[in-house]
Amino acid sequence: MSKRILIIMAMAAEARPIIDQLGLHELPANPQLQSHFPRFQGEFAGKEIVISLNGKSTEYGVDRIGTEFAALSTQSAIVEFAPDLIINAGTCGAFSADADIADIITSDQPVVYHDHRVPLKGFDRFAMGAYPTAYCPEYFQGIEHKPGVITTGNSLDMPDIDRQWIMQNQGMAKEMECAAVAATAHLYGIDFLPIKSVTDHIDIDIELDNVEQFLNNLSKASQKLSETLIRVLTNIK
Ligand code: SAH
Repeated sequence: MSKRILIIMAMAAEARPIIDQLGLHELPANPQLQSHFPRFQGEFAGKEIVISLNGKSTEYGVDRIGTEFAALSTQSAIVEFAPDLIINAGTCGAFSADADIADIITSDQPVVYHDHRVPLKGFDRFAMGAYPTAYCPEYFQGIEHKPGVITTGNSLDMPDIDRQWIMQNQGMAKEMECAAVAATAHLYGIDFLPIKSVTDHIDIDIELDNVEQFLNNLSKASQKLSETLIRVLTNIK
């Protein structure tokens, strides 16, 4: 039986290049799910691939970025497709000393949260989380990438307290879904691998970034993400 790989992605714009390049077809909505997670399926390099997106908010018309819908998307796709491996692919922020725009960051270390602070015995460690990754150097053979800590929160900005936590945890990629996807994969005992491409530098004033630059980085990063995913999917045995 061929290996089944589930790829969880938050934003439609991040996923467009990989969906097109793999020639995946969209699956009909599952009527049992109250909330529609757009899903795309196909075969590539002898593997069965399913991409599941967070979907759009009916109230606000935007992608439902962040942890809740990433976890729901992951759990319902696990139940439906029983994957052997879950990849969370997406964009992230990074410190300018660590990575350039569109650089690829993955992780051989547990994924953590930087905005779950509960200073009570036991709850503190539970809140921060430490969800395992299944990094394999062979997956990234011939691919330029940086292994580092991926850190998740539900905000795009970075107040000082979050920055302190990120620095303490030696966070390299700051984003909004990874820990939730990793936690869900862990719950089901399924191997988990994050692959992120940098859209923004978190130590540079975000207001300086104009809209044009953001859109430019998003498409550049998503293109790089797609190329990387194709090479990783090829390398996986
Ligand atoms: N990519 C945009 C941000 C879009 S909104 C940018 O260039 O600023 C945030 C989405 O992109 C989330 O799905 C999150 O996982 C990811 N993301 C990219 N940069 C982020 C950052 N600096 N902080 C948090 N999430 C970030």
